Amino acid sequence: MRIASLFEQKKTVFSFEVFPPKKTSSIDTIYATLEELQGLNPDFISVTYGAGGNTGDHITCDIASVIKNKYNILPLAHLTCINDTREDIEVVLDRLEQNGIKNILALRGDINPNIPPKKEFKHASELIAFIKQRGGFHISGACYPEGHVDSDSLVDDILNLKKKVDAGAEHLISQLFFDNNYFYSFVERARIAGINVPIEAGIMPVVNKAQIERMVTLCGASLPSKFVKMIQRFEHSPEALRDAGIAYAVDQIVDLISQGVDGIHLYTMNNPYIAKRISESISGLIQA
Ligand code: FAD
Repeated sequence: MRIASLFEQKKTVFSFEVFPPKKTSSIDTIYATLEELQGLNPDFISVTYGAGGNTGDHITCDIASVIKNKYNILPLAHLTCINDTREDIEVVLDRLEQNGIKNILALRGDINPNIPPKKEFKHASELIAFIKQRGGFHISGACYPEGHVDSDSLVDDILNLKKKVDAGAEHLISQLFFDNNYFYSFVERARIAGINVPIEAGIMPVVNKAQIERMVTLCGASLPSKFVKMIQRFEHSPEALRDAGIAYAVDQIVDLISQGVDGIHLYTMNNPYIAKRISESISGLIQA
């Protein structure tokens, strides 16, 4: 099934992201997470991909395969290209095809100063064109409500996003954000630029201070003052911060659904408890 076709339903699409366990953790930890996420009835679950350029590591494909075959949920396999050759990418695509995984989130990947890029793919749009030419897959792409950190301007970023869609991306998932106004302005710019594919809002519930510091360093998301006050007020009380983080995410989602967002993509951080609390709070809204 094409992920883009999910947006033809009347309801708001609701999906999750999980990541493969670290090499030091057992693979079983992700299966326990998936077991619990299954009960929350997501429209699809995406699985991240390590951008290390190690094609011997097929964990994303293996987890996506379990999501499809054991849990009967539509999987979306992430795939980065900056550290890979065309041959490397072919190996991953072959394996995805053999496992019946049809939906790929095609990404450039972050540039790691310690790993010289392979240069065959400079941008996600080139990976999208490559997959499209091979055929057999439906392709999604990433987008950035506040602009990508490498971009000189929001306008350039939107023009580059249009190249991704023109190359074949049928659906977009946004980077996390904590101020919905950035998302609304971004969607408006995208529509003016002729980007007409569904755009899902990426929501990350904040559950601890270290997590937020890491995320903001990585993606540069702006922090509204009410969000900063929330962190400052509860930073030494983990349960209170967790509850406040869940409430903040629910508040963002209620506003997004009220404004007619195409879909909500929840960055679960492999934490089913948080995904469950959020899903339960918004289940009536998703269906309305
Ligand atoms: P691109 O679309 O290539 O954009 C990167 C930069 O290049 C932007 O500044 C863009 O404006 C510019 N650009 C794009 N095309 C052109 C062009 N033709 N000419 C000039 N400039 C151009 N990373 C992982 O390693 N693994 C994951 O699983 C993963 N999942 C993600 C999921 C989502 C929803 C998001 C939002 C990000 C994810 N990332 C992941 C992070 C992502 O890899 C980084 O943000 C990366 O730096 C950019 O990837 P991209 O696909 O958006 O790149």
